[in-house]
Amino acid sequence: MRYVYDFDDPEGAGRELLGGKGSGLAEMTQLGVPVPAGFTISTDACRAYLAHGRRLPDGLEEEIAEHVARLEEKTGKRFGDTSDPLLVSVRSGAAVSMPGMMDTILNLGLNDEAVEGLARSTGNERFAFDSYRRLIQMYGEVVDGIDGHRFEQRLTDLKQAKHVQHDTDLDADDLRGLAGVFKSIYREETGRDFPQGARDQLTRAVQAVFGSWDNPRAQVYRRAHRIPDDIGTAVNVVQMVFGNKGDTSGTGVCFTRDPSTGEQGYYGEFLANAQGEDVVAGIRTPRPLVEMREALPEAFDQLVETMATLERHYRDMQDIEFTVEDGTLYLLQTRGAKRTAAAALKAAVSMTEEGLITRDEAVARIDAASLDQLLHPMIDPHAKLDVAAKGLNASPGAASGGIVFDADTAEARGRDGDPVILVRWETTPDDIHGMIAAQGILTVHGGMTSHAAVVARGMGKPCVAGAEGVSIDQAAKTATIGGRTLGEGDVITLDGGTGRVYLGPVELVPPQINEDFETVLTWADDFRRLKVRANADTPDDAAKAREFGAEGIGLCRTEHMFFGEERLPVVQEMIMADDEAGRRAALERLLPFQQGDFEGIFEAMAGLPVTIRLLDPPLHEFLPPLEQARDEKMRQRIRALQEANPMLGTRGCRLGVMYPEIYEMQVRAIVRAAIAVSERTGEAPLVEIMHPLVGFEEELRRLRELTVATIEAEGEIEYLCGTMIELPRACVRADEIAQHADFFSFGTNDLTQTALGFSRDDAEGKFLTYYLEHDVLDRNPFETIDRGGVGDLMRMAVERGRGVKDGLKIGICGEHGGEAQSVAFCHELGLDYVSCSPYRVPLARLAAAQAALAESGAAQYVAAGG
Ligand code: ADP
Ligand code: MG
Ligand code: MG
Repeated sequence: MRYVYDFDDPEGAGRELLGGKGSGLAEMTQLGVPVPAGFTISTDACRAYLAHGRRLPDGLEEEIAEHVARLEEKTGKRFGDTSDPLLVSVRSGAAVSMPGMMDTILNLGLNDEAVEGLARSTGNERFAFDSYRRLIQMYGEVVDGIDGHRFEQRLTDLKQAKHVQHDTDLDADDLRGLAGVFKSIYREETGRDFPQGARDQLTRAVQAVFGSWDNPRAQVYRRAHRIPDDIGTAVNVVQMVFGNKGDTSGTGVCFTRDPSTGEQGYYGEFLANAQGEDVVAGIRTPRPLVEMREALPEAFDQLVETMATLERHYRDMQDIEFTVEDGTLYLLQTRGAKRTAAAALKAAVSMTEEGLITRDEAVARIDAASLDQLLHPMIDPHAKLDVAAKGLNASPGAASGGIVFDADTAEARGRDGDPVILVRWETTPDDIHGMIAAQGILTVHGGMTSHAAVVARGMGKPCVAGAEGVSIDQAAKTATIGGRTLGEGDVITLDGGTGRVYLGPVELVPPQINEDFETVLTWADDFRRLKVRANADTPDDAAKAREFGAEGIGLCRTEHMFFGEERLPVVQEMIMADDEAGRRAALERLLPFQQGDFEGIFEAMAGLPVTIRLLDPPLHEFLPPLEQARDEKMRQRIRALQEANPMLGTRGCRLGVMYPEIYEMQVRAIVRAAIAVSERTGEAPLVEIMHPLVGFEEELRRLRELTVATIEAEGEIEYLCGTMIELPRACVRADEIAQHADFFSFGTNDLTQTALGFSRDDAEGKFLTYYLEHDVLDRNPFETIDRGGVGDLMRMAVERGRGVKDGLKIGICGEHGGEAQSVAFCHELGLDYVSCSPYRVPLARLAAAQAALAESGAAQYVAAGG
């Protein structure tokens, strides 16, 4: 078995085996982009290592030795040499991007003698010892688990003693001394001397990087991003290039387009005389990339050209790491850039216009779930608000919450359901659990490529980074923002789209769809087969739904029409009535209200179908709690209607069967509304009457008879009469039920509850959370359709229903209709439409198009990463 692949090996085996970073380095090498030489140890080796009690698989060490020899040949330097040593980095890199979650060690191959050799051969003693102290720290942290603060504290002490601010202000002697201090920390912590053998360093570094796959923060990150636990990481061994050689050297990070907005330009940051993580770690404030044009013009021009080359090659926006050594540019990483939904849309539209990608690729590559970010309420751009502080607009969206100063508190408060804003000088990968729990993130240091910014964009969370006007007293747990000192729990609001910070909560306004969004959705509409409707109960919702492109209403619930000051007493009167005559008298007074509501909705949806569901909830929902009953009679009625499990009780069509006068009134209101609207507007509404919770053919047979008779008694309208399919029995007996139905609409919330035997409220609060955390289930079946169980029932219902009625119209009106993977499933089942909340209509339009494209085998976008 082969484990190791050189970057220039044309048989390089793809990202699964080489990881994103490794395959990127190989592709760049083969494209002719300047990349230092090196090789990748595959994820196979990692999996073998982890599976066999953390032992390197047989033959791997020999194979590594062969590739080190090849590297020596290519570079003309020897690994372990003491006069002019070959140094390497050992870098993690999984198939899926997990920025900063695993480990990397730089400058491997140095020891006490080699560092002197490096000083002599480069004539740069400062650089040699700067590299050595970095190695000792990184190696100590990664291989031996020494707390990094121990090293950092000594660096800080030294800077203080020398009265300097930056590490660059330290001279060769300082760094020589620091390396000595670091070695003694290493000895104290491990009881051993810092290892002097280069090969020994390498073997242990490879093992440590494999092991870092299972470190706690990587596990948390994988869970949050649904990355499987068993794919493992590759290890990349790369010849070192040095950005810490002086002022004509440096290191940086850049994006081929702005990761927040998708605009073209030079987005990135650069730090002179620095190495590796210095840019992202906020050690010194990095310079905007454009400033590199003056400092290092040749390297800058080459970088700009390389950015274009990489974007053309990958046909996607890239996130790039580079280093300049003595004016010469080297690329160290490229990956598909994490981007906000807005940036994804802008980049997809402009790349299509530039001819880089086709429309179907543009549609296929937008993460449908991420559109949610754009469909959240935002801060009113016209509101006059006092800005308390300003930072970089690192990740858009608005969020309010109580401030917290550490990740553990964020997690604890988040678990209690409090919205929190995590406020930090700068986040590190160890803060990941707090970032997941927080509504938004505010940092004082750090730029657009800082850890906080990158991770927040990946999560679609608002982030304001580098708000230098904010100061934090970590010990006192206070922050000073805009001249005011705030304590833990005090509320602030972030606008990650503008970088503004406000004190207190801020009023939000509904989102709007911008031009790029509209463009992509219009393209999507050309590809999709599923229709998309909305669930809407009011004319306002209906109007909003139309604005978002809904092609009708798939679920208009009628129960809310029973509430309201003037109505509820009448409804209660109906429930309290002793006989049918009493109920009818009350219903007669409700009818005009319902009719008015339906007229409003029909008008808002002119020309598009409206599915109205007759009364669904149990009647006791309309009565007050027992303690608030107005008299003994009401108390009795409440007791009589009480049910041990209302979800499975007297509700849905069972009400219609027992009290036909209720549904009769609703149907009459619908017909009268339809006739009134036709007369008023000249356009007849497309009416679909839907009966909930049908389980037996006989239920629907009776209700259909009632519906038809009621309509005929009122006049003439075009209509369909159908049923929800939301009980397992209805799926099984769909052939019988279909004989009385003009359409089916899946109610997958109730269907999930009844098929799985889960009551949603009890499940989500309790055992389901446990199941998800402990991998009994990998998805919440109320969010994504449980294909295996619920999905099979749906398939059965489709087949049996259409088996007796060719082309029976079938849709879905549960929340699942607005979730991307469930929409894809509905497409596969051959449904006619999905219906979801108005705000999710755009997402459903896109997801439906993506499902159709996937089916037709059109280009599937695989998110790049590194
Ligand atoms: P991460 O996945 O956390 O970005 P990397 O393996 O990419 O970790 O490395 C960390 C930092 O060190 C990056 O800034 C990278 O560019 C830099 N680096 C890695 N290898 C080398 C090398 N051979 N020469 C110079 N810099 C390197
Ligand atoms: Mg990197
Ligand atoms: Mg239901």
